[in-house]
Amino acid sequence: MGKRYYCEFCDKLFADNPTNKRNHLKGVFHQRMKKLHYDAFKDPEEILKEESCKMPCRQMETTGDCSFGDSCRYSHLTTERRQTLEKQVQAKRDAALKAQQEADREVRLEDWLVMRQKSGDASGPVSAQVAPPSLPPENAESPPVYSLPPALMMIPNLPPSLLPPPPGTNLQASREEWG
Ligand SMILES: [Zn+2]
Ligand SMILES: [Zn+2]
Repeated sequence: MGKRYYCEFCDKLFADNPTNKRNHLKGVFHQRMKKLHYDAFKDPEEILKEESCKMPCRQMETTGDCSFGDSCRYSHLTTERRQTLEKQVQAKRDAALKAQQEADREVRLEDWLVMRQKSGDASGPVSAQVAPPSLPPENAESPPVYSLPPALMMIPNLPPSLLPPPPGTNLQASREEWG
């Protein structure tokens, strides 16, 4: 039994001799399988971008094959493959959007503005509400309400470090650590 050569790209086993091997590696099928394999590691958006710069390959379109194989300067992207890639790009965008929305949820300015509006109605002008840290809380049931200066309120999506502490936060407690 002679030596056998196995091509992992094509999942094909054949007699291992130089002619077979060379013909196989040069073959269109092998080239396509190899490209598909490496494309799997490429960003689908990148592939689409690269392919959209090329004209479609006439030979590929008419015969379903191209003698230039991988080195063809025209696009070999099939409609199905394009659709698959587009779906992948869309799925990636959806995931990114979802992650963004989750991040936004943590610092939702609108919610905070509503909260501020409510507490503002109850206890007078907002601008006067920044309690000086040196003053002790009036009593335990109504802790001081911290608010932003109007200039900062114009900026959407403030970083959490700039947002006022949630109501009830006892800033007095940690004051000594900073002293
Ligand atoms: Zn192969
Ligand atoms: Zn071609």
